[in-house]
Amino acid sequence: MIEVKDIKKTYTMGSTQVHALRGVNLTIEDGDFVAIMGPSGSGKSTLAHILGLLDVPSSGSYKLNGQEVAKMSEDSLAILRRNEIGFIFQQFNLLPRLNAYENVLLPIFYSKKPSGSQNAHELLKLVGLDQREDHRPNELSGGQQQRVAIARSLVNRPRMILADEPTGNLDSVSEKEIMRALKELNDQGITVVMVTHEDEIGAQAKRLIRMRDGAVQSDERLRPIGAKNLSAQGDAPTDSQKNTPSPLALSPLKSTSPDAPSSSFGLKELGGHFQQGFKSLAGNKIRTALSMLGILIGVAAVIAMLALGTGAQRAIEKQLSSLGSNLLVLRTGGMRRGGVAQQAGEGTRLTRDDANAIKNQVPFIHNVGPYVNGRGQVGYLNKNWNTELLGATPNYTEIRAAIPNIGRFFTEEENMQRARVAVVGTTIVRELFNGQNPVGSILKINKISFQVIGVLPEKGAGGWRDQDDLIVVPLATAMYRLLGKNYVDSMDIQVTEASMMDQVQSQTLQFLYTRKRVALSQRDDAFTIHNMADIQKALSQTNKTMTTLLASIAAISLLVGGIGIMNIMLVSVTERTKEIGLRKAIGAKKSDILMQFLVESVAVSVLGGVAGIFIGWGVCVAIASATEWTTSISLHSILISFGFSALIGIIFGIYPAKKASALHPIDALRYE
Ligand code: ADP
Repeated sequence: MIEVKDIKKTYTMGSTQVHALRGVNLTIEDGDFVAIMGPSGSGKSTLAHILGLLDVPSSGSYKLNGQEVAKMSEDSLAILRRNEIGFIFQQFNLLPRLNAYENVLLPIFYSKKPSGSQNAHELLKLVGLDQREDHRPNELSGGQQQRVAIARSLVNRPRMILADEPTGNLDSVSEKEIMRALKELNDQGITVVMVTHEDEIGAQAKRLIRMRDGAVQSDERLRPIGAKNLSAQGDAPTDSQKNTPSPLALSPLKSTSPDAPSSSFGLKELGGHFQQGFKSLAGNKIRTALSMLGILIGVAAVIAMLALGTGAQRAIEKQLSSLGSNLLVLRTGGMRRGGVAQQAGEGTRLTRDDANAIKNQVPFIHNVGPYVNGRGQVGYLNKNWNTELLGATPNYTEIRAAIPNIGRFFTEEENMQRARVAVVGTTIVRELFNGQNPVGSILKINKISFQVIGVLPEKGAGGWRDQDDLIVVPLATAMYRLLGKNYVDSMDIQVTEASMMDQVQSQTLQFLYTRKRVALSQRDDAFTIHNMADIQKALSQTNKTMTTLLASIAAISLLVGGIGIMNIMLVSVTERTKEIGLRKAIGAKKSDILMQFLVESVAVSVLGGVAGIFIGWGVCVAIASATEWTTSISLHSILISFGFSALIGIIFGIYPAKKASALHPIDALRYE
């Protein structure tokens, strides 16, 4: 069965070479029970690991069942290991977070044999632990743990058991149990190769190989291959042994059946990886939560930023539509230079007559609305409020799309009569009237009594200023009773068609220059006309830029979160090196280990991402209710964040996962 010819193994440690095996020749037949003994450092473990396909020799030939394995790829070795060989280690190497049953079942996860679960129950019964199936390793004695390990080694029905100091960590009673189990397995035709340093244990084998300095020193046949093993060398069975019937006597193990052709990577397999991943994440809750935190904050920030940006965009759009269309705004004075508005001289001040003249004499103008504005102190009962005052003409409702929802706007007669009537914004209603209907009430504006006749429709907060914090009174009233101005500050000019905006803009200026006799040299500073559509466009653009900027900053925290995950995964790989080694020993391929860790990091980042989405949403709701900013979460941003966090899991998980999958089985197993 095993044929080893001139096997050498050399380890290179820096500049020195350690010759662990110096040409070993060995044939082990099916059904033999071989003990390998020798002083420490003699190479017995190295030999056992090579025989167990956990390691490859530096040179020489190793034929297992006639097949040359010395130069096989790692994955082919993994498949051979899980089909042909069962491992029992001195340290038991059970996975601490799995119970006995799950530990026994673990190799099935990689071999995908359908009868696995039934086998696992049966085997635990065989080793006398059927009552302990759901105990974790730390709830089992050493001997019990080793019996679980024996059950695990048998679950894939191997032809050979490789036991590395199987009794090294056990008391003498457990030692006898384990030896008895090994002998019984051997009686059923399974080849047993056992490394031990105890003469007493070695003497129970059928063949004793002694090693020294990397070579076979002696090779002694103690019993014939076919002979039945004696139970524990003539010892009378102990009481505990009497009570438990010979643990492995029940059913003779069938010989290995070839693997069902394992399908390519399937959903079921992925599901299995997820199950395992969640188990190990759940086993380390605080760490998992902490590594999720980065992604969580990042996603929440991205969601909130995008929602704020979209909200601001909507607000701008709403404002735009509420402004009325095709609007030009005319002001006296030049463009702002260096932040200082150019003051209008007396001669270029605009009047109500100018407004009428523009409307009547410049073509393509639908409406002109002159304004004065200022600030004022308003009072109602014992409440006071400082607000913006606007004097306007009745066509304000049309130009600025501001027909009152409650009450009415003032009329031209009231304007002519300088009536003391006021239409108030919703902020005023809230601040002065506690949200009650104010129509009919008398309030004081700069100590003058006004009757409230209507409430303006809500316009929403436009970035830095609250557009509803406003009182509109008739233009004449404002000019002569409130603000003491005999000129108007600005005019809305509503153009009949959008395509005429530019033309109307230049014609209006031209008209004013002539009408007001503005000297050529002063024309630049006399009047300014803004195209509201242009302003809105510029505002949107600024808003977009800000949103992008903020979202990018938030995305950086996602990146940091990803690095956090990578960091934790790297720690996890180091910490679980032994586990990786064990998984490889029992047949996990590179891709299995890769998937295992990748699935974990993706699970962490996706969980973090989902939590982040909810928290981001909560933040938006909180911001919206605290500040009256509008926020709007789009499905789009949710999908993007979700996809992004999964992507981060993959990107930042792949390096640790690759690192884990590249570990050499035997190095990993020996890692302390
Ligand atoms: P034994 O099991 O008989 O104690 P080993 O097979 O473990 O002996 O080791 C044989 C020799 O090879 C020892 O000198 C040991 O130091 C060396 N050796 C074993 N594994 C490694 C390794 N991974 N790297 C370097 N040297 C090693």
